[in-house]
Amino acid sequence: MIKTPAYAAASATSPLAPFTIDRRDPGTHDVLIDILYCGVCHSDIHQARDEWGGAIFPMVPGHEIIGVVAQTGSEVSRWKVGDTVGIGCFVDSCRQCAACEAGEEQYCRRGASFTYNSREQDGQTPTYGGYSTRITIDESYVVRIPEGIPPERAAPLLCAGITTYSPLRRFGVSPGDRIAIVGLGGLGHMGVKLGKAFGAHVTVLSHSPGKRDDALKLGADDFIVTREAEAFTQNAGRFSFILDTVSAMHDYNAYLNLLGLDGTMVLVGLPGPTPLAAWPLVTGRRRLAGSMIGGIRETQEMLDFCGNHGVAADVEVIPMQNINEAYERTLKSDVRYRFVIDMASMKQLPVY
Ligand code: NAP
Ligand code: ZN
Ligand code: ZN
Repeated sequence: MIKTPAYAAASATSPLAPFTIDRRDPGTHDVLIDILYCGVCHSDIHQARDEWGGAIFPMVPGHEIIGVVAQTGSEVSRWKVGDTVGIGCFVDSCRQCAACEAGEEQYCRRGASFTYNSREQDGQTPTYGGYSTRITIDESYVVRIPEGIPPERAAPLLCAGITTYSPLRRFGVSPGDRIAIVGLGGLGHMGVKLGKAFGAHVTVLSHSPGKRDDALKLGADDFIVTREAEAFTQNAGRFSFILDTVSAMHDYNAYLNLLGLDGTMVLVGLPGPTPLAAWPLVTGRRRLAGSMIGGIRETQEMLDFCGNHGVAADVEVIPMQNINEAYERTLKSDVRYRFVIDMASMKQLPVY
């Protein structure tokens, strides 16, 4: 076992604090990765505060991991020491079910091993995430980071990037489509950049009037403040596709009315249960769908797409020691547009 410094939440009400975890020695198909950067996803906050239930403590969050291969098992064929690689939201899956065979490991029927707050495929060993200095992982669950994307700006692609790319692709967003992104946070700002790279006309729907200039700088064509009730009447029927990234409860019905005939709204944000009326769906033959991250193959496709189109996240790099403050700012929608932890800040920490 390899003693590894980390930051963990001891319970749903504890702040994150220094902690030590054991990483396994690399097996024949494993790689050991020195972590350079880890993005801070709102899912880290939901889980560290047990907002989804069933949380496993102590919890080391973090699933937007960029690092360098430090060691390879004897039969590793895809990676060599020194490669810059990424790890997203899961580290293993059953590899046998229909979802795994289709390259949609995140929907593994037997349950994927998520990067943290989860268990390895043995059903017992807890997984620990990227708020740590190194990680051991099977080589098949690692992706390549294209040259040209700075590593700290690549980290958020591993969750925020793939979570927005996958539904844009799957629901066929095409040049000229009028689409809306709801919520301009980590996911939302990637949705804007990727929607533009797909050639769509992109409108941001935000409850933060102060983000207008940023939205336009990020490439959005239009910006609508959702605090004003007229926003929903004036823009009724305007969009063919809406991607909803909002982390807090809000009225889905109001947003559905912004879709035209046969329009689709895809939920990726994960707030608590919210009432849904039949009327907005029925009266416009509209569709409401959901989407969760993406498989390994699609994540690599997204990274290559970002490399080819010059797409990367806008980040605020922080030392690990500022993580609790970063959580508070994220909760206030004050993130521009992804916090990314520089793991060099952990080097000064003793191993406890
Ligand atoms: P984030 O950076 O905090 O962004 C969320 C945005 O939602 C905020 O910036 C804000 O944008 C908007 N918002 C927040 N509170 C709101 C409120 N009360 N009313 C209306 N809008 C509000 O979070 P994130 O990391 O992008 O994650 C967003 C959600 O997606 C989280 O629930 C997360 O767990 C989930 N998620 C899902 C997947 C998946 O696979 N489906 C993957 C990753 C994350 P404005 O200021 O512009 O309104
Ligand atoms: Zn995430
Ligand atoms: Zn499976």
